Amino acid sequence: MTDPAQAAAKAPGIIIQPDAARYFEAAASGVLMIKQCHACGQAHFYPRQACPFCSSQDTAWIESSGSGTVYTYTVLRKGHPGPSIPVFIALDEGPTLLARMVGAEPEDVRIGMRVKACFPPLGPNGAPLLAFAPDPNPDQTARQDAMRS
Ligand SMILES: [Zn+2]
Repeated sequence: MTDPAQAAAKAPGIIIQPDAARYFEAAASGVLMIKQCHACGQAHFYPRQACPFCSSQDTAWIESSGSGTVYTYTVLRKGHPGPSIPVFIALDEGPTLLARMVGAEPEDVRIGMRVKACFPPLGPNGAPLLAFAPDPNPDQTARQDAMRS
């Protein structure tokens, strides 16, 4: 069986910069890592050296809950083996990001739908690729998040 992190490292088109190694290591275990700024407290994604809100370089990796909401989406029906659903997700921690919806038919996706991050082997050479699937327990996840804050 191929190690997903090794697959990512060897995949054409994926160049793992030292700053992003932590992201790919976690992705191989199904965990979404994002960065948080110690100066202003804001979380951000994609990872970068300086905070996009205050330019501080005092940032650190944090484990995202992987929970979020569909901000918007579209359905691509040409040029793919089946319909593909790019989604723009608002993570509960604040960052917004573009990914792919999996585990849902186009007619089931809705703006405002609760989703969970996952890493199916859809990248080059079977590398783990960030995607989102419908949250199987959206009410329970919302309660846990409310208790956490
Ligand atoms: Zn900041």
